[in-house]
Amino acid sequence: MISSHLIPVAGGYIDGHWCAADGGQTFPVINPATGDVLAQVARMGGGETLRAISAASRAMANTPAVAQRREWLENIAAALIKNRDEIGRILCMEHGKPWREGKAEVDYAAGFFTYCAANIEHLNPRVLAEHPRDCEWWVLYRPAGVVGLIVPWNFPIGMIAKKLSAALAAGCASIIKPASKTPLTMIALFALLEREVQLPAGWANLVPGSAGAIADALLTHPDVAVISFTGSTEVGKELIIKSAAQVKRVALELGGNAPYIVFADADMDKAVDQLMANKFRGSGQTCVCANRILVERSIAAEFSKRLAIRVNALRMGNGLDDATDIGPLVDRAGYEKVRHHLTDGLAKGAQLVAGAMADTLPPLEKEWGGFFPPTVISGVNRTMACWNEETFGPLVPIAEFDDENDALLKANDTEYGLASYIFTQDAARAQRFVEGLHFQHVAWNTGTGPTPEAPFGGMKQSGYGREGGIEGLFEFVNVKTSPVGI
Ligand code: NAD
Repeated sequence: MISSHLIPVAGGYIDGHWCAADGGQTFPVINPATGDVLAQVARMGGGETLRAISAASRAMANTPAVAQRREWLENIAAALIKNRDEIGRILCMEHGKPWREGKAEVDYAAGFFTYCAANIEHLNPRVLAEHPRDCEWWVLYRPAGVVGLIVPWNFPIGMIAKKLSAALAAGCASIIKPASKTPLTMIALFALLEREVQLPAGWANLVPGSAGAIADALLTHPDVAVISFTGSTEVGKELIIKSAAQVKRVALELGGNAPYIVFADADMDKAVDQLMANKFRGSGQTCVCANRILVERSIAAEFSKRLAIRVNALRMGNGLDDATDIGPLVDRAGYEKVRHHLTDGLAKGAQLVAGAMADTLPPLEKEWGGFFPPTVISGVNRTMACWNEETFGPLVPIAEFDDENDALLKANDTEYGLASYIFTQDAARAQRFVEGLHFQHVAWNTGTGPTPEAPFGGMKQSGYGREGGIEGLFEFVNVKTSPVGI
């Protein structure tokens, strides 16, 4: 069992109070590095969610002024930074990523609160310069209403920071459903909201437990104006359908299938370096990590060779150990998916460049995830599962391309449109790819993903809505207009 001063109760937090599930049910949270049960957390459902919605509605009866909301945001950022080590440790234990990555994620999360605090003035009313229809026109950004925030396990503090910062900036109270694999980091955040921020009752409510029941309560309650969801495309589609009954606004951050394109004129060592950081963060369990590596044919062998040296040097282990570069996958299903992508690729003609043959993988005797060795395969093509699906693990599939046109066609050969990367020294070519790649995030000569200062989100089946940047500030407001006769 985990022991932390930031986990006062393994439960929910509704209307300013910690609470257990109504029926006393719990679910276990497992450390994927050891299989140990870290906690038994309250399994809540529809009833608790309805109470949380009522508390949020009551809180919103008085919208706090911008200055108050800014202070909340600044205090949350400060509390996160102050407690970086302990939140990072909890995150490491329930997710499996190295502790230092956990700490970096806390800084990333704090950045969203800092950014929203610094830019909250963008939500002030504005008056149009023009006077159409003989009126002075006011544009007002009003809180949309109570919001439901549903988040995945792969960034236990980062994902909620993106949503909660914008919701509080807009003046919306929230009901938060954490992922059941990583609710403890969220509990720690709520301990900070209570103790260090003194966020008034009802403004943020935590309801861990049964996803379907909690989501149904959010989707059917008239006070809930927006549901912001990050997770799989499959669940996102379900939410779109269910939200139709009340024409509820949904913002969806869904899956990805990122191409990582390396041209012969690129700085190859930089492309390898950036790929290592991009691909193995969180054991490859990120929506923006490179999923298909497309390398110009003339340099493919050399690129694979240099990558293999780096991959073979990665140290796999428990994230609490400072020497660890890469932790385990979060659960058994994640491990099986990566294994399937590897065996399917090899069966269809791919070659192993580094890492494990499927039959040498360590056996999985227990119920938790497992350590999947970082692995590289080459000769990948569009008939393979690793080309068409998000692997969400430390498998690097390399395919070759012949020219610009071939690279663009292959990169765009997916229904997803989240992140993409191109490495070339040719600025004109890079600009053609920024236009031609059907992905929201097109990174040139860098493997970097999102940052609090820039808008981020999907195209195509990666979803819609934006988080971060000025655009993200407007996710939870209703834009109203008020023409005043002059
Ligand atoms: P998931 O869809 O299984 O779960 C996400 C959240 O939704 C969890 O809290 C889960 O409990 C909840 N949920 C599950 N079923 C639900 C239902 N029927 N109704 C409402 N909520 C439900 O996804 P996951 O496995 O936790 O996360 C991995 C996925 O998230 C990947 O596809 C990844 O690409 C995506 N992701 C996207 C982004 C982005 O910014 N676009 C960021 C991180 C992760």
